[in-house]
Amino acid sequence: MAERPYIVGNWKMNGTRAMLSEARAIDRAAQRYMKAEVAVAPPYTLIHAVHREAEQIGVGAQDVFPGEDGAHTGDISASMIADAGAKFVILGHSERRADHKETNKLINAKIDSALDAGLRIILCCGETLKVREAGEAEEFVLKQLKASLPQIDDAAERLTVAYEPVWAIGTGKTATPKDIEAMHKAIRQLLDETYGEETSAEVRILYGGSVKPDNAREILSIPEVGGALVGGASLSAESFLGIVVAA
Ligand code: PEP
Repeated sequence: MAERPYIVGNWKMNGTRAMLSEARAIDRAAQRYMKAEVAVAPPYTLIHAVHREAEQIGVGAQDVFPGEDGAHTGDISASMIADAGAKFVILGHSERRADHKETNKLINAKIDSALDAGLRIILCCGETLKVREAGEAEEFVLKQLKASLPQIDDAAERLTVAYEPVWAIGTGKTATPKDIEAMHKAIRQLLDETYGEETSAEVRILYGGSVKPDNAREILSIPEVGGALVGGASLSAESFLGIVVAA
């Protein structure tokens, strides 16, 4: 497995230039604390500014248009976000699947565009509470992933998977360590089958869903958890760094 845990902050639709001081503080701390790989995904409007602040942390986007530059009013292409300084993009987040009716097919097209532009990908998957209560969480998540994992040979090197149970996002609820471990193991098995064990071992599987400084250590010590995708707690440098140092 890739050795350093990967801790990624997803700022969602939050942040004005006033948040640049948080990015600066995260970056300075990450320069001193090298045990984790740290990154943030600000809104599009701040990517370039955060990139200019960042000497250590990675900067990414939260979405991308699935195609080349052209007549698509209001959209942003992968080459544009790469030009702004983004090194990765989060795709398939449950908020985009719900708010914008994103399908696995669309997510697949976005992955292709992102890879073509040289970006790394954080591919999100996760079940709703209804699916979990029906006992179908594993089947659901693996189906979601099978439909969107990139099949290109070298894609795995630039891939991170984030398991985020939908019911745990922004709710203060987290999955139990036992459930997280079982899901991450099932995802690992699928990655082994898809890319072969050696390549699969390079793909980190993050957990996301109400990760906070006080639960991070326990979550990050679960086998097969290669880091965390953090929403709410990434909006202040203090709480985000509390997670980084727990890694
Ligand atoms: C997320 O949206 O990716 C997320 C994990 O959010 P939160 O940490 O707020 O649950």
